[in-house]
Amino acid sequence: MECGNLLPLWYSEPWNQRVSSVSDDIGSRTPCTKAVTGSRTPRRRPVADHAALMAHNNKHIGHDVVIVGGGVIGLSIARSLALRGVNDICLLERGSLGTEASFAAAGMLAPQAEANSRDNLFELLCQSRDLYPNFANALKEETGVDIELDTTGTLYLAFNEEDQREIDERYEWQTNAGLPVEKLTSADAQMIEPCIAAKTAGALRFPLDIQVENRRLISALANSIAQLGVHVLTGINVETVQTTNSRVTGVVTSRGSIPCSAAIIAAGAWTSFINSTIKVEPVRGQIICLTAKPQLTRHVIYSPRGYIVPRQDGRLLAGSTSELVGFAKEVTVGGMSTILQNAVEIAPAISALSVSDSWAGLRPKAADGLPVLGPCGEIDGLIYATGHYRNGILLAPITGELIAQTILEGNAPTELAPFSPDRFSAVGVS
Ligand SMILES: Cc1cc2nc3c(=O)[nH]c(=O)nc-3n(C[C@H](O)[C@H](O)[C@H](O)COP(=O)(O)OP(=O)(O)OC[C@H]3O[C@@H](n4cnc5c(N)ncnc54)[C@H](O)[C@@H]3O)c2cc1C
Repeated sequence: MECGNLLPLWYSEPWNQRVSSVSDDIGSRTPCTKAVTGSRTPRRRPVADHAALMAHNNKHIGHDVVIVGGGVIGLSIARSLALRGVNDICLLERGSLGTEASFAAAGMLAPQAEANSRDNLFELLCQSRDLYPNFANALKEETGVDIELDTTGTLYLAFNEEDQREIDERYEWQTNAGLPVEKLTSADAQMIEPCIAAKTAGALRFPLDIQVENRRLISALANSIAQLGVHVLTGINVETVQTTNSRVTGVVTSRGSIPCSAAIIAAGAWTSFINSTIKVEPVRGQIICLTAKPQLTRHVIYSPRGYIVPRQDGRLLAGSTSELVGFAKEVTVGGMSTILQNAVEIAPAISALSVSDSWAGLRPKAADGLPVLGPCGEIDGLIYATGHYRNGILLAPITGELIAQTILEGNAPTELAPFSPDRFSAVGVS
């Protein structure tokens, strides 16, 4: 199937188009309850600790929670909150749901393959990866959408002495840490994946590093939150967060103000445009989509310079670049040539494949490269969920869970402490 056939399932759904007059919608407190695929009954759970939110905010005005940004992060948070019984959630998206970085991603859930040490981010990435099997099953049950979680595993190849040193070090620290990782000779690796280059010097196999079809994931999340009654408005730009006495009172949008008790900023690479002192910059990544029928590989395969990702429908994604070029989302000749060179180094047979598509997206990167997750200490009710950089697809389930917990309990869980937005003001970075 061509990439163009994989349009997100929500494109033709009426609830995405019903916002013809947003000023009416803004005033409305009626959540959208239209089922998107089929008519499954929304699985609302009892209100866990909704009282905490209400008590925290003294007075219920407008929506309980406004989420700014309808990428994988905003969608996952909306679902987690709705599943916990928060009834009045409004998600605001400037364009269409999930059409920015979350659409452009390669869907790898591979914390071990890229990690040089064990740190707080690594722990969070692994925790989120390990949530994926249940996350995928729950989404399938709720929406009927299969997010194609592929648990074959990930290979990481070395082609020269420097690459070999890199994978030897990774193997050593991860085995010492008790993490599952297999060291393969060139012959072992070629037995598992015959497509890889004969000049492969050695490889690691990460059995727990897996992949997901991120566009299907977005569809599943969008369907899920529609069924759960989340109020979704698209084509609406949030300009600023309104506060009174250091407390969130609403958001100002391109179509008027929306009162709310809590605002969650999940605006990806555009976070700094909302009255934010949090600096998040865009890092462009390009992807080339090839057609491989029959599929060339079963594993996701990395080298230190690039990666290839096989999809079930015969697409083979090759990535990527990391470029500081502002908000430009072009695919360039230089980008394509680097990506293809690195892909052919991994699997020479790629030279014979046809190119079916290409795209670029903007990874949201904070000043220290870590995600920005949790409440802003200076403003009650302002919560960030941004800066996911190279790992937003991987971090979507845990971000949803921990931000929902933050909202309902009025405090960030301890796991979020290293990622607090307040870390920047503390060291004067922003
Ligand atoms: C080429 C590439 C490959 C990648 N591969 C992987 C991978 O294999 N695994 C992985 O885990 N991650 C990967 N990533 C990273 C991942 O895509 C991002 O970290 C993730 O998508 C970020 O999600 P998000 O929801 O924060 O941002 P986005 O998906 O960009 O969503 C933010 C949304 O907010 C909206 N918005 C912004 N400002 C406003 C506003 N003022 N008002 C209303 N709406 C607004 C935007 O329109 C957008 O829809 C990759 C990224 C790229 C570019």
